[in-house]
Amino acid sequence: MNEVVKQLLLDLGLQQSVHYSKVAFDVRDSSDVPDFKRRWVKSPVDASSLGAVDDSSPEDVQAAIRDAASAFSVWRLVPPPERGDLLRQLAAELKEKKSLVGSLVSWECGKSLQEGLGEVQEMIDICYFAQGLSRSIHGVTLPSERRHHRIMEQYHPLGVVGVISAFNFPVAVWSWNLALALVCGNTLVWKPPEKTPLCALACQCILDRLIYNNGYAPGLSLLVTGGAAQGKLLAQDKRIALLSATGSVKMGVSVAGIVAARLGKTLLELGGNNAVIISPKADISGVLPGIVFGAVGTAGQRCTSTRRLIVHESVISEVRNTLKTLYARLRIGNPLDESNQVGPLIDYNAVGQYLETIRDAFSEGAKIIVEGGIVRLSHNSSDCYVKPCVLEIDARAKIVKKETFAPILFLMSYSSLEEAVAIQNGVPQGLSSSIMTTDLGEAEYFLGVEGSDCGIANVNTGTSGAEIGGAFGGEKETGGGRESGSDAWKAYMRRQTSTIHSGSSFSLAQGIRFDV
Ligand code: NAD
Repeated sequence: MNEVVKQLLLDLGLQQSVHYSKVAFDVRDSSDVPDFKRRWVKSPVDASSLGAVDDSSPEDVQAAIRDAASAFSVWRLVPPPERGDLLRQLAAELKEKKSLVGSLVSWECGKSLQEGLGEVQEMIDICYFAQGLSRSIHGVTLPSERRHHRIMEQYHPLGVVGVISAFNFPVAVWSWNLALALVCGNTLVWKPPEKTPLCALACQCILDRLIYNNGYAPGLSLLVTGGAAQGKLLAQDKRIALLSATGSVKMGVSVAGIVAARLGKTLLELGGNNAVIISPKADISGVLPGIVFGAVGTAGQRCTSTRRLIVHESVISEVRNTLKTLYARLRIGNPLDESNQVGPLIDYNAVGQYLETIRDAFSEGAKIIVEGGIVRLSHNSSDCYVKPCVLEIDARAKIVKKETFAPILFLMSYSSLEEAVAIQNGVPQGLSSSIMTTDLGEAEYFLGVEGSDCGIANVNTGTSGAEIGGAFGGEKETGGGRESGSDAWKAYMRRQTSTIHSGSSFSLAQGIRFDV
């Protein structure tokens, strides 16, 4: 048992049971739970045991949805600024507990402490954003073609929002959904990833106490544990008005089919395969450190990680050399030690996929620029540490069309901007993209209709590290959903168009006469 993490969980107030989920920190204390529904949580940092979490049963999932549906009938009537105040309180709690939650995120999913703290900051930011939104959710008033008529559009909450999230942002993605769903008047049932349930349970506990202290029903926001089976139950249930699902394309295809069959709504945030174009007019030494962060941050396990670097043939030699220098400086090791920049992959299965992708790239003629491989650290670390690598490859290779959740950067060359954009767009995914250039014409081409086909298109800043103010999401196989800032809140509401007649004489649209 990892005593540091046990203390973190206790300091965060995690109880043995959180509504429909059960957790055991000391697995010897909970032998009463049958093994078939128990998942053991191991840290990718040092392979230590962090505890055990039991899957919610189908009955638990049904009960959570029932309670959330019942809480919705009350919460939808609470004035939005009062709803926003609950999120302000959550932001304040998270601010106070930032270091505890950030450390727990690092221990459980292996990202660097700086990125763990950044994840908590993102949660705080979205809560404040939603509080502001609570006084500005608005529809429009439109002119009517008829005298004494007025048309308006207003927004109402949807009902229960189901949230399925991925391990690489074990709590931030929940907070994006939570903040917007609650402020819009919905209630929530969250199924966090089976690989990182503990930080989810700890954050749920923080929220539970606030819900209780404010006198709201616990059903306002609930959590169920487990994997694909529990996710499917959320997808199948007609009481889930919106299913917001973040994860692999395979998962998205499955849940989208289930929800579509009952004509429900989905918000999908799926895989990415993000590229940066480096033009001959780029400030190469200025932009490359940011590109390296995009490729190796969270050990290449961000949906927005930079996976492809498309470089003009006239500067590719300079880029190769600078990458070699920068990669040689990377420190790989325990992510809780702030002198390290690269932590472990999530589990040994991910290490297998990393090795397989490198092998496949070689079979398609890839050349090593920076060599990869498994890293053996001291005896008290896990087997999940790998070297970030750079492989030069033909842009037409099949392997570059695939998202591998690991720090592998494919380097490829181009000769014209049109060709670079075609390479950048020539993959099934469409999440994030960037161009590095000081030429305004090139930047505008990249952002224009002939340019990037991604949901995110940046200039002189990398693919990774979005702020909460903008709408976040991607096109094509990434799923088309938008979360977080801007007007992403509209996905969590239903729009109602109303025509109001205040005159005395009856009239029809389009001048239709109906004399009775
Ligand atoms: P995953 O698809 O294996 O799991 C994600 C979640 O879906 C988990 O909670 C899992 O239990 C659940 N799940 C899996 N199969 C399911 C099914 N058939 N029905 C219902 N639920 C199911 O993904 P992962 O390995 O946890 O995360 C990595 C993936 O997530 C990458 O592809 C990454 O790009 C993507 N991701 C995308 C975004 C985004 O905003 N676009 C953000 C984070 C991660």
